[in-house]
Amino acid sequence: MATKQKNVGVDDLVMLTEVSEKSLLDNLNQRYKDGVIYTSIGPVLISLNPYKQLGIYGKDQINLYKGKHEFEIPPHIYSIADKAYRSLLSERENQCIIISGESGAGKTEASKYIMQYIASITGSSTEVERVKKQILESNPLLEAFGNAKTLRNNNSSRFGKYMEIQFNLGGDPEGGKITNYLLEKSRVINQTVGERNFHIFYQLLRGASAEEKSKLHLLSPESYVYLNKGKCYTADGIDDNVAFKQTRHAMKIVGIDEPLQEQIFRLLSAILLLGNLNFTATGTGNNSNATISDKNIANTIGELMGVDPILLEQSLISRMISTGQGARVSNYQVPQNVEQALYARDAFAKALYSKLFDFIVRKINESIEVKTSGKVIGVLDIYGFEIFENNSFEQFCINYVNETLQQIFIDLTLKTEQEEYVSEGIKWIPVDYINNKPCVDLIEKKPIGILSLLDEECLFPEGNDASLMEKLNKHFANNSHYSNVQQVRNQFIIDHYAGKVFYNINGFLDKNRDTLFNDLVTLALSSKVALVNEIFTYVAPPLEDVEQEKKNRDKMVRGGYANTGAKSVIPTDKKRPITAGFQFKNQVGALLKSLYSCSPHYIRCIKPNENKRSLDWDQEKCSEQVRYLGLYENLLVRRAGYCYRQTFAKFMRRYYMLAKSTWPKWTGDAQQGAQLLLDELGIPKQEYQFGKTKIFIRNPQPLHSLEDKRVVRI
Ligand code: ADP
Ligand code: MG
Repeated sequence: MATKQKNVGVDDLVMLTEVSEKSLLDNLNQRYKDGVIYTSIGPVLISLNPYKQLGIYGKDQINLYKGKHEFEIPPHIYSIADKAYRSLLSERENQCIIISGESGAGKTEASKYIMQYIASITGSSTEVERVKKQILESNPLLEAFGNAKTLRNNNSSRFGKYMEIQFNLGGDPEGGKITNYLLEKSRVINQTVGERNFHIFYQLLRGASAEEKSKLHLLSPESYVYLNKGKCYTADGIDDNVAFKQTRHAMKIVGIDEPLQEQIFRLLSAILLLGNLNFTATGTGNNSNATISDKNIANTIGELMGVDPILLEQSLISRMISTGQGARVSNYQVPQNVEQALYARDAFAKALYSKLFDFIVRKINESIEVKTSGKVIGVLDIYGFEIFENNSFEQFCINYVNETLQQIFIDLTLKTEQEEYVSEGIKWIPVDYINNKPCVDLIEKKPIGILSLLDEECLFPEGNDASLMEKLNKHFANNSHYSNVQQVRNQFIIDHYAGKVFYNINGFLDKNRDTLFNDLVTLALSSKVALVNEIFTYVAPPLEDVEQEKKNRDKMVRGGYANTGAKSVIPTDKKRPITAGFQFKNQVGALLKSLYSCSPHYIRCIKPNENKRSLDWDQEKCSEQVRYLGLYENLLVRRAGYCYRQTFAKFMRRYYMLAKSTWPKWTGDAQQGAQLLLDELGIPKQEYQFGKTKIFIRNPQPLHSLEDKRVVRI
């Protein structure tokens, strides 16, 4: 009955009579206008952001979905969560739920509903409750430090997150682990008009007591250069004062005690003040050296961070350079001009904040992670494909991860489809699908992929964006996924599965180098504040394969694979710095490895309009997202074989009432019953096949007729 509660379109797009991008969109649109936000494509769930509370996440809904199979009830996020949980228990296999979609599409909300569902259907012993509480509380904490108001979303996550919940053998949560990806650290120093810096800054400035404000030397938000670029200090629907209380509470729950909280707040205050630190040029022209304009600010930062303000100034206005080798190394200080000093200042602020963020994640993990052989459900909440007017290194990284996610999606969907046909003994004709491996290779292949050429270019002292561009054009001249625009010299184009993206190469080298001069690292290490010291001392445990990769890279430096022009020689003793691209590639590699070890579930989120308005449908935007999410492809894959498959028993339970021979009750063998039923209804033999345990129906028409008859009957 439930599927027909609201007779809007089809619950599962495989049931569409006409398979086209247009009918797919029309179906979603029709449902959206009726307040139905969930639709499936087989096991994949599509979720449309309703931009209003629909009242579909209550206790009664949770009970409705608990332990049910998807065909019995309308598509819902709880259905996916329940399926993942049931599979975890019955198959004893790791599960992952991959949520994708563009900013504001509802990914993070979806991940919270999943957590809430799992928390409410599992045990309630004191210990389990404690674990659940810690896992749930980690969320507001991560959001305080990792989310910000953007033009697209007032509570936009500015980092990618993979959250694993660990289960004990009894099926109750016993721990968890968070892995974070690519924090948008440029936001610390700059914001677009109408956007804000990370929430925590405003929380601290609004929520701290008068005593704390003076102790931490806090000013009003408007007085900080790092906060006033966006000209925006509040966000609709967010009360920074209340949120600060929640953040503090969450910190306590995950074991960040008050003394440590104070260190964190001091550091945040210092980061903000760094932005107000200005430099004056002394001397003229090329020889003008920077000095700090306002020593008082430097003194305050020094006090907050536990470092000597003279050393702070030194580290910003000069750079230690080493020359020579071995015993003949000599160091000398090179003065910096104002522009260089500002660059170092901003780099320092960004490094401090992103290291602080990593520290918070580590603290959460310390409190929730357990050593266990139990299984996990992982939830991946990660930025979807991005095509902006100007696409830079950030979009390149984001689209790279999406390209690889699409690859596992295709791999695994096809694989499971095929496996099912084989195990059921069903005949089927394999179909061709877009294979996006060549595109992934273009980006990450060793020794010559865009990422390795980029890394290599970063090693050459005279390497710059233009020389990288030249190399890319040369090496990928014959690559069908790569092209360039002759007239626009700083752009290259990658043909992603979701479409062509123009990348602007300006800034690629700088962002990839992600340089923080040693002077500033040394400065931080001299800090008397334990936290500042620790965040710079911490070395991430090597990801598997990374050590080997490092060796290969060092070999590459010596061999100089890519730089066939050989106009510059990189000193052989120079160690390859860990670049942003290298780090990201390894993280993506590790993520894929865990995802491949899981049974995947997919949630594809769509933002129906740009105005955050309920019921408003922007056809063009939706069509674009359907393409980026590869939904039509997905539908074709699913429709290539059989649109419907169900065990004989379930099939009979649903349709027994349609034939005289199986009515009013069928108690015999389910497969025999199904045969009688189909014969009596005159469903042609070529429309279905019987597998070992399931019936497979090729086209939706016969099913529609079954469903229609069923509605008349009940
Ligand atoms: P994303 O993580 O994809 O950027 P969010 O999950 O933060 O997007 O969602 C953005 C906003 O949209 C939320 O703050 C909320 O107001 C609204 N929203 C998203 N999903 C839902 C939902 N299922 N029900 C009601 N509102 C939602
Ligand atoms: Mg989000």
